[in-house]
Parts: sequence; C-alpha cells; structure tokens
Amino acid sequence: MTSDRDTIFALSSGRPPAAIAVIRISGPRAGAALEALIGRVPKPRRAALARVRDPESGDVIDEGLALWFPGPNSETGEDTTELQVHGGRAVIAAVLGALAKLQGCRPAEAGEFTRRAFENGRLDLTAVEGLADLVAAETQAQRRQAYQHLKGLLGERAESWRQRLIEALALVEAGIDFSDQEDVPKDMMARALALIRPLAEEIGRAGAGQGERLREGLRVAIAGPPNAGKSTLFNRLAKREAAIVSPFPGTTRDVLEVHLDLGGYPVTVLDTAGIRATADPIEHEGVRRASAQVANADLVLWMVDATAVGAPGEGVRLELPSDGVSWVVVNKIDLVTGPARRRVESAFGRELTVHLLSSLTAEGVDELVNALARFTDRFFSPEPALVTRERQRSHLKETVVALRGAQDAAQNGQEEIMAEQLRLATRALGKLLGRVDVEDILDVIFRDFCIGK
Ligand code: GDP
Repeated sequence: MTSDRDTIFALSSGRPPAAIAVIRISGPRAGAALEALIGRVPKPRRAALARVRDPESGDVIDEGLALWFPGPNSETGEDTTELQVHGGRAVIAAVLGALAKLQGCRPAEAGEFTRRAFENGRLDLTAVEGLADLVAAETQAQRRQAYQHLKGLLGERAESWRQRLIEALALVEAGIDFSDQEDVPKDMMARALALIRPLAEEIGRAGAGQGERLREGLRVAIAGPPNAGKSTLFNRLAKREAAIVSPFPGTTRDVLEVHLDLGGYPVTVLDTAGIRATADPIEHEGVRRASAQVANADLVLWMVDATAVGAPGEGVRLELPSDGVSWVVVNKIDLVTGPARRRVESAFGRELTVHLLSSLTAEGVDELVNALARFTDRFFSPEPALVTRERQRSHLKETVVALRGAQDAAQNGQEEIMAEQLRLATRALGKLLGRVDVEDILDVIFRDFCIGK
C-alpha cells in the first residue's frame, strides 16, 4: 500500500559544490515535509520562492525554489516535491539533516525513485532500462538510443505484440469452448494462426541491430608482437599516460581500455599485452586475457614494427584473427626512409587494409582515427535498435520459440497445446515489460542507478 510507505529523499543533482542543488522527496509525507520545511505546500507544478527552515530550531537554512507534484501524475506516481537550494555542501547537509528528522522520511536507496515509478506503472521495465542508459550515456548516439527506449521504442512495440497475442489466444480459447462443434475450433485456429505468423516474423527480426554495442562501445583491440609500439599508440589515442610505455618487451601485462567518442559513437580501444609465448606466470595471464580480448573485438589493429618489415627476403608474421575485421598497422614508420619505406609500403597484399604510421611522431595517427570513425559509422546503422540488452533479447527469443510451438501445434490440430504456447509467449513479453515474474531481477536492474534517481 502506498499510504504506509516510507517517504524517501535524496540529493538528485550532481556532486557539490555546485550553483544549485536539487533535493527530491517522494512518498505520502512529501506534502508534510514541505509544510515542515517551508511552512506551506505551493500550487502544483509551479515554482515557488521559499525559505527553507530547520523544523526544530526554526533557523533559516537557505532560500530557494520549491515545486509540488501531487500524485499520481508525478514522475514516481506518488506525491513528489523538489527543493532547489544553493549547491553548497553545508546547505545540502542541513536540508537533508532536517528531512531525516521528520517522521516517516528516510534517505532513498540507489534507483528508488525510479523503482517507485516502475511499481506505480509510470514506466515499464524497458523504459527503466532506457532511463538508466540515458543517465549513463557518454556519446550522442548513446543518448539518442537511450531516449528512444525511455520513450517506449521497445516498450510500446512489445505491448502491441502482447495485445495481438492475447487476441490470438482468445480465438483459440473460444475454439476450445466450442470443441463440440466440428468446424469451430479449426476455424478459430486458422484465424489465430493468421495473426501469429507475421508476429513471429516481426519479433524474430527485432533482435537485429547493434543496440548492446552502442551501449558498451565498439571494441577495437590493438594487438601484435611485443615492442611493436602498441602502448605508445594507445597512449596517443588516450591523450594521456594510461599505459606504461617501456623499451623492454613484455611490460603491458594487463588489458587497458580507453573510451573514445568518434562522431557520436562510443569506441573502446583495448591495449593488449604483447602476444607471445612466455614463462612468466603474470605475463602469461596477461597474454591469455589479451587473446580473449582479440577474439571478442569488433576490429583488431594488428601492429607490426616497420623496421621488421620489408627487408629483402624477409616476411612478416601476421597472426590475424580469423573471424572479425583486422587491419594491419605498421608502426615506427619514422625509422624507415627511402627505399626501405617503399619496401614496407609494398610488403602487404592488396586484400589487407594497411595503415602506416608513427606512434612516436604522430604521423599517420589522425588518418587512422578518421578511418576508425568511418568504420564505426558503417558499423552502427542509423536505424534505432529495438533491443539493447541481453535480458530483452532472451525474452524475445523465448517469445519466438513459443510462437513456433503454437504454429506447430496448430498444424497438428492440437488446440490445447497451441493455447498453452500462446500463454507462454504472452508471458515472455510480460517479463520483457516487467509485468510478470520480475522480483528476482529488479534488484539487479535498479542497483545500477545512482542515488537520487
Ligand atoms: P608494445 O610492447 O607493443 O606496447 O610497445 P611500446 O609501446 O611499449 O613501445 C616499445 C618501444 O618502441 C618503446 O621504446 C617506444 O618508445 C618505441 N616506439 C613506439 N612507437 C614508436 C614509433 O612510432 N617510432 C619509434 N621510433 N619508436 C617507437
């Protein structure tokens, strides 16, 4: 019951000190909290100038704005209020301290406002996920995708699929009720089948797209033999000293990441330890992780040392991973000039994408970054992805499997089984939306939120 729930409060704006701090309060005692702190409840949804006082001493803490959003048409679905005060640490501490003294009020847990919005039916689970992504978005493409999911890109689609499934189910069940009349069940099943077929196809197609990748970033691994200059290039890309660069082989023992924003798309560049056989157990672990990263990468930049390439009669060993895309990056091009340089340039087959550069002098690095940006742009389609998480994907898969089961049952004239499969499919979509069977996953989802959201 909402009425005996705690009233929660939290600082919802960023880390102090800041010009303004927004403190949010939600729950049945939100109005009472306003009375206690500013002496009144302002008109709904209008900013009101207010002195905020400590309810016990009556001392003025600060002056700011108060907003009152009565439930159920508020963000959480409950009575909600926002105080905008000056964003100093002591101001915030005093206001939060005053709220904590009020009966029935306590600090909010991470994601608790959003969780209440979900529980009060203001957001379905796909919108909650979109909201989490919107808060976490670092690039413009991530922001666009997250916003569309918050606004129901997947949620509304899934709800309409669910409605159509329920219609199909109703037809089959009606057929079962009239199973004493020869043709009715068959006829109803045929009509249900006509509804299901396009639906199964549409839901099956929904899993396409690079939604997860857009959330996490395209993965580009820099790999190659020790001392080729991988860490030096990585640092140049990171524009900071993130990886240790040393003239001795085998110093990068772990996998380092740097996040780049290329034309609005997120790219995670991984610096892998020099891939080579080694007896050192720590380095061995680094090599193992590096190999795993290379195997998972969307693009591998296989780096070789220009001075090791192109000497007459000498080949270069390329260990390009068999699946996925790889480019050859010939580094230390500053060390080869004249005929040696031309030999390097012609050392690789035409089928390979080759970039010549110097991580030390930065020659050719911009060209590599531009090529990465073009690759990224092609990788992510401009179409918004319906599916952005494994959780969503697995529920859609479950739906499609059940729909196939329903189609098979229809073919065999098994109306009871068809109805059961349709119920399973409806349930899977219900899980996707967070309508059924969600208790065990909610903690996981809301844990990712910050406090005050
Ligand atoms: P990693 O083992 O592949 O990560 O190689 P490092 O980045 O640690 O580089 C190995 C050595 O090569 C270091 O001494 C670097 O300063 C040097 N180095 C890296 N890139 C270049 C380059 O483009 N030109 C020259 N001349 N030296 C480089």
